[in-house]
Amino acid sequence: MKDQTLAIHAGYERDETGAMAVPIYQTTAYEFRDADHAANLFALKELGNIYTRLMNPTTDVFEKRFAALEGGAAGLGTASGMSAIFYAIANVAEAGDNIIVAKQVYGGTTTLTGHTIKRFGIETRYFDVKNPSQLEALIDAKSKLILFESITNPSIDVPDFDAIVKIADAHGVLTCVDNTVATPILCKPLALGCDIVVHSASKYTTGQGLAIGGMIVERENLVQKIKGNPRYAHFNEPDASYHGLIYSDLPLPLFTLRARLALLRDLGAAPSPFNSWLYIQGIETLPLRMKQHSASAQEIAEFLEKQPGVIKVNYPGLSSDANHPNAQKYLHGGCSGLLSFEVENMEIAKKIANSTKIFKIVVNIGDSKSIITHPASTTHQQLSAQELIDAGVPAGLIRLSVGLEESSDLIADLKQALER
Ligand code: PLP
Repeated sequence: MKDQTLAIHAGYERDETGAMAVPIYQTTAYEFRDADHAANLFALKELGNIYTRLMNPTTDVFEKRFAALEGGAAGLGTASGMSAIFYAIANVAEAGDNIIVAKQVYGGTTTLTGHTIKRFGIETRYFDVKNPSQLEALIDAKSKLILFESITNPSIDVPDFDAIVKIADAHGVLTCVDNTVATPILCKPLALGCDIVVHSASKYTTGQGLAIGGMIVERENLVQKIKGNPRYAHFNEPDASYHGLIYSDLPLPLFTLRARLALLRDLGAAPSPFNSWLYIQGIETLPLRMKQHSASAQEIAEFLEKQPGVIKVNYPGLSSDANHPNAQKYLHGGCSGLLSFEVENMEIAKKIANSTKIFKIVVNIGDSKSIITHPASTTHQQLSAQELIDAGVPAGLIRLSVGLEESSDLIADLKQALER
């Protein structure tokens, strides 16, 4: 089935009420048929609902629908994009291990990997996403994950997936792609050979900036890369916290299962059923919206390129952009609504942001309402000067998240702001 059909139907069969819209199962817990039923669920002899921190029927539809769009085996909803990224890391790495992360990632991912997990004894090694050959020298026996974004935020790079996957597979290391900006509509990392996809569902998923949430999706047959692989011993050895369960022996998608049974159980960043319902509503129109976001962003990028005072426009849909060849190879149907442009300095950048009327100053992306952000003074304020350069965030960089307003109105708004 094509994406637009999956977006509307995947993961939901009518329930006993016949409700056509997915119901919101707003419940904390579930009544068991009897004591044996409860015992069987806890022992995984039977699959079913136990407690909403672990699973929920509304969230289940969200997970199945998202996994279907990504072409994956299973999904796990989380309370935020950051918890999805953290769980993807915590599912494979422990103290003494390392992960390898692209320098060009969302600011929160930089602080998570550079600071927070360091305190848990997990080292992060960074590579330039424009130069995947650097990975070879960084991988060792303790490397557990290679993490990068399919369209980087805010530097708007598109990686060479083939080059990264080739090196990762040669070493048996899992790849994890943050597909938030591209969404599964424009990029399918699992079909490109990647192993795990993570998302901030807070962005294009509702498309209206309605809720904070996240998603982890694993590819089909991931067990083949994990079973017997000494890097992932805890998937291959009995889990003492779950009756000695060996994840790689189960006929189930093992990555999301372990993240659910161990990490959601113990750390608890579960999505609320109501938020899962909001994501389901949003996903129905995701394919349509991503086409429009992309078409308007393309028009705006072409307009900005011609403006005096604009030093550089970063949008992979422009033939002048260094990422254009990778975008043509790895993205389909558009390059999303995120673009950035550079002006001379921070003062001019702030003046432009202060002068737009339709573009609002907000630190978010992926909303139907257009957004203007000055990353160096907001989302990336915590980064050092070197980290800013590494993340591709010069002081005069302005990021736009192009919404769904009429594109000629957006262009007129930017024109008057640039001319002030
Ligand atoms: N990944 C990317 C690419 C993002 O842009 C963001 C947030 O802006 C996140 C992850 C974090 O997501 P959340 O805000 O849902 O925790």
